[in-house]
Parts: sequence; C-alpha cells; structure tokens
Amino acid sequence: MDKQTILCPCGSNEKYTDCCGRYLHGGEAAPTAETLMRSRYTAYTLGREDYLLATWHRSTRPASLELASEPRSKWLGLEVVRHEQPNQDHAVVEFVARYKVSGRAHRLHEISSFVCEAKRWFYVDGDIA
Ligand SMILES: [Zn+2]
Repeated sequence: MDKQTILCPCGSNEKYTDCCGRYLHGGEAAPTAETLMRSRYTAYTLGREDYLLATWHRSTRPASLELASEPRSKWLGLEVVRHEQPNQDHAVVEFVARYKVSGRAHRLHEISSFVCEAKRWFYVDGDIA
C-alpha cells in the first residue's frame, strides 16, 4: 500500500503522512498526549515496537514487547473518549481500541497516563476501564 495516500490507521481521517506518520517516520515529537496515544495505536497496527518502546516512560517501559512472536492482532479501530491535561506535564487519555486475535474480536477500554519531559510526551501506564 502507498503510505503517501492511505488514511491514518488512528481514524483521524487524515492522510498517514499528515498524521501519525509525522511522529512514526518524521521524528517529530507528538505535541499532546492524545496525539502520542494515537501514534502509539498506529505503531501497534504497523508492528513498530521501536516506536512503542521509545515513547514508553523509562519508569514503566518493558524490555521488549515481542510483538513479532505473539499471534498477530488485527487492529480494527480507535476511539478517543477523553483527553484531560490537568497541568503542563501530566495528561490522561481514555480510549477504546478494537482488534481481533486469531479471529476473535476484543475491545480494549483503557485510561492511560502520560507525562511530558523535556517537551516530549511519554506513556506511563494504563488502567482497564
Ligand atoms: Zn494518525
């Protein structure tokens, strides 16, 4: 597929190159926790473990995700329910992601915490809602 023209997997209705591609390929820092969260969802759809680890806060980051060795998830869509930023350095994003593994449909409803350090947002952890 031509990455120049496809719509972004995060569901923004923008072109991939104008949306999460800026962060996944362009090296730009996501300006808000919500954009980071969307780009991380897109990274899951593309199997970009490097990006997921790079945007994971060092205090909670796993050594690896082993995305390649797990049964591959087929990501079906993302809905951002809520984005709150109570102060400059902390934010919460609530979302619902739908995916299939081995033909079975799943729904992940998570409330994720993010911190901003040196003008970069990082994923810290999430609670299943
Ligand atoms: Zn996107």
